[in-house]
Amino acid sequence: MEIKGPKVKDYIRKFKVAPGKKIQLKKYDAGWVQNKTLKSMNEEQAQELLEKMLEKDRASLAEAQELLAASHEKGILIVLQGMDTAGKDGTIRHVMSGVNPQGCDVHGFKVPSAEDHAHDFLWRYYKVLPERGMIGIFNRSYYEDVLVVRVHPERMEVLPEKIGPDAKGFWEGRYKDINSFEKHLTRNGTLILKFFLHISKDEQKRRLLDRLDHKEKYWKFSTADLAERQFWDQYTKAYEEMLSATSTDYAPWFIVPADAKWMARTFVASVITSAISGLNLSYPKVSDDQIKQLMAAKKTLEAEK
Ligand code: AMP
Ligand code: MG
Repeated sequence: MEIKGPKVKDYIRKFKVAPGKKIQLKKYDAGWVQNKTLKSMNEEQAQELLEKMLEKDRASLAEAQELLAASHEKGILIVLQGMDTAGKDGTIRHVMSGVNPQGCDVHGFKVPSAEDHAHDFLWRYYKVLPERGMIGIFNRSYYEDVLVVRVHPERMEVLPEKIGPDAKGFWEGRYKDINSFEKHLTRNGTLILKFFLHISKDEQKRRLLDRLDHKEKYWKFSTADLAERQFWDQYTKAYEEMLSATSTDYAPWFIVPADAKWMARTFVASVITSAISGLNLSYPKVSDDQIKQLMAAKKTLEAEK
């Protein structure tokens, strides 16, 4: 079925961060973004259309993932970042719902353990990177190590003074470490896609209140989120600097408008699907010898009484 929706190319042009580009998040609309196709629609019609696109992309993603596993050439790493309540969990659930669970790993990262802190900051993430053939999703990631600890340096591991956060060029050093890490992974067969789910401060207030208005959502509310909200501007600044320092040709960031959940989910699904199909993967070739063996096996099975 052909769906006449916005083309993923148009989205990508809008939301992909060019390497080194100075980012001011206030210039990025967190609400539902109109383009040529959506312009003539009201919000409900746009939502309906985008949900249909998501449905279609989910099916393509399931197929693409099978090919990814069969060809065993590449792993895919998807990084999701965003302020509290930005919709990271929901996006993962909706986008990946059709994919074979055996082909997909989701990792969430909480406050690091003492063992994590006794290693370099990338160690705990390295251990759980996706194998070839797998899609790995990071719900929060090594980017927390230039975000939450940038805003709250006291939450960082204790480092020797000479190389710690007061040393000159410390944060630039971390960005460089991240870029080299991602370059290394890319060179060795991992495709990396990074999404920043961009919500407005008003939308966060609505979502936090919603958690307090519904008993079944109480568990999602954390008073820590309310405390972090007081640091909104500092987080915004840390995000802006991080986005411009770490969006590269080989591991780009996308700033995804996420006040409208359906917009964010559809966009993320489209980008992942189109990136996998761009890899031009193919099912493994079977040699003449292997075919002979397969046919012999067939004969043996058929001859069984
Ligand atoms: P949640 O994703 O809502 O379950 O929250 C996880 C918490 O862990 C958030 O408050 C993050 O800021 C925190 N966290 C994740 N990674 C790090 C890190 N590397 N250093 C410090 N805190 C972190
Ligand atoms: Mg939370």
